[in-house]
Amino acid sequence: MAVRALTGVWKLRLGAGREELLVRLTTDGATLSGEISSPRMGTISITDVTLNDDDVRWVVPIASPVAIDLSCALRVQGDTMLGEADAGDYGTSILVGRRTSASEWRAWPTPHVHRSVVRLPDGTEVTAVSYDAHDPYGRERQPDFGLYLDRRWAPPWSHTHLDWPDFGLFPGDPQAVVDALENLVQRARGGERVEIGCLGGHGRTGTALAWMAVLLGEPGGGAVSWVRSNYCPLAVETEAQEAFVAALQRSSGPALGYPSRARRGPGPPAHA
Ligand SMILES: [Zn+2]
Repeated sequence: MAVRALTGVWKLRLGAGREELLVRLTTDGATLSGEISSPRMGTISITDVTLNDDDVRWVVPIASPVAIDLSCALRVQGDTMLGEADAGDYGTSILVGRRTSASEWRAWPTPHVHRSVVRLPDGTEVTAVSYDAHDPYGRERQPDFGLYLDRRWAPPWSHTHLDWPDFGLFPGDPQAVVDALENLVQRARGGERVEIGCLGGHGRTGTALAWMAVLLGEPGGGAVSWVRSNYCPLAVETEAQEAFVAALQRSSGPALGYPSRARRGPGPPAHA
């Protein structure tokens, strides 16, 4: 394939969570280089593009929130790209997409760090955090307890992990998530300083905060809007996570906020 046939802007979706990545490939006539951009990663130079017939490969060195090399191997047919993205310890995801117009390119800024106090609909406060590889555990004041949605976390304070894979997939056991979120809220109500975090602090953490808003009686307008207004506009990263929260909201009445109501667990919405 001619190098020039690959230049332009490509819109790719990563994994079952449908995270969207933009790729811009350019050429100096002989070799390809480019950039990749997403709200989660920011904009990163593609350092190493190789081309072999219809197969294109590149490596993206991601620095934040954790240092990994994201290796992408794609087959290109016309305006379609299809292949895999390998994130090392974080596993492999399907990558699929199409060429799009140059005006679709958007250079997302470097991801920000969260140490954000979120006031839940009932007034309970939890601190939502992202993993900062340079200083993960520096705090003005240490929390009493942390609930972490990624195994990367190993802070010196009391904490627990939830098994919730990255790249937009959902927890295997929704009831375990409800129990852990309820436990976190009860600790906060009891006066403990608690925090919750994943890696970037948007996808899984945003979804968990929306989930807590549902449990506590989100005040109207939808739990996703609530978490974006009350925490971060980038919270709940993917369409699938958004659909997950919407399904949760339909299947669940407020439980923690209204103890007189019969408790109805959210139940697992169908996986997207
Ligand atoms: Zn944010």
